[in-house]
Amino acid sequence: MSIDFDIRLSDHRVSADERERLLEKPGFGQVFTDHMITIRWDTEHGWHDARLEPYAPLSLDPATAVFHYAQELFEGLKAYRRADGSIAAFRPQANAARFNASCERMAMPPIPEETFVRSLELLVDTDRDWVPAQEGHSLYLRPFIIATQRGLGVNSPSSSYLFIVIASPSAAYFTGGIKPVSVWLSEEYTRAAPGGTGAAKCGGNYAAAFVAQAQAVQEGCDQVVWLDANEHRWVEEMGGMNLFFVYGSGADARVVTPSLTGTLLPGITRDSLLKLAPDLGIPAAEGRISTDQWREGNASGELTEVFACGTAAVITPVGRVKSARDEWLVGSGEPGPVTMRLREELVGIQYGDRPDPYGWIYKLA
Ligand SMILES: *Cc1c(COP(=O)(O)O)cnc(C)c1O
Repeated sequence: MSIDFDIRLSDHRVSADERERLLEKPGFGQVFTDHMITIRWDTEHGWHDARLEPYAPLSLDPATAVFHYAQELFEGLKAYRRADGSIAAFRPQANAARFNASCERMAMPPIPEETFVRSLELLVDTDRDWVPAQEGHSLYLRPFIIATQRGLGVNSPSSSYLFIVIASPSAAYFTGGIKPVSVWLSEEYTRAAPGGTGAAKCGGNYAAAFVAQAQAVQEGCDQVVWLDANEHRWVEEMGGMNLFFVYGSGADARVVTPSLTGTLLPGITRDSLLKLAPDLGIPAAEGRISTDQWREGNASGELTEVFACGTAAVITPVGRVKSARDEWLVGSGEPGPVTMRLREELVGIQYGDRPDPYGWIYKLA
């Protein structure tokens, strides 16, 4: 049975002129729509009090659990204005499933998939004028859940939670077109260790990552690459994106992405590319890639391209790699043909310019 939403429309919506002005140059995650979804959970009632309500600040007691022990997690997906005029999301059920897998790891209550998806539909349908029409722009959807119990005890998880969905019209994540990024191999810091929360999309993973990202910038790089916690050798992820390695070229090209060892975030873009690439004649596999193999592969020419993938930036080429000891280019340092082909195909499916034989597209409005 689906939960009923109490609809409380805003009586101070942003004017059409102001909205158009904001949509011209929205940036990423800076502008928010007129409404939000809130649903409460507590041990007594389960999920209840579902609302569509005006976007507004929250009022929380300073002793609320989330502020102290970071029991919080989130999702990220996009609503696209498509060629046929409809608005659609890409695999929202996969986000619901991952949200619930993250909930399990963080001792939080799972939310029924249909309630999760209904929340997105209701918010996007209500705020559909905020879905950008500009090429490459989209409405970024951010479902999240926070622990709301008041008190500082640490012996058990919170007994109450608040699920929220907000929406942000956004431009491309990385500005300046498809520019390759440079990466810093972080041997000092780790994102995730075996048995930890690396596979859960929790804010705590990001809180612990900023210092490494700042170090990458200090080293003149755009992004940090995470290595395994034990040996600092095996490549895991780049910032908040998964990585793919392209071997060979032309008809002999194939791609490899690091296996999901429990310390990697199972990206939906990653999963989609593992299905899409073979259908385009590019064999795809999961495996293990060490920093030495990366270095040697680029030196010998066997490794031709590297790219990162995730919802926000879709596919981003990696052009240059730097470690504490050395520095090298990936191929010519320019975006490679396999990277660009996969990007074009995936974006084509998302915006409706290509057919979707996979059933990935879900109409929201
Ligand atoms: C969200 C995220 C990804 C990418 O996942 P997508 O579902 O493809 O957006 C990769 N790594 C980390 C750490 C993430 O948080």
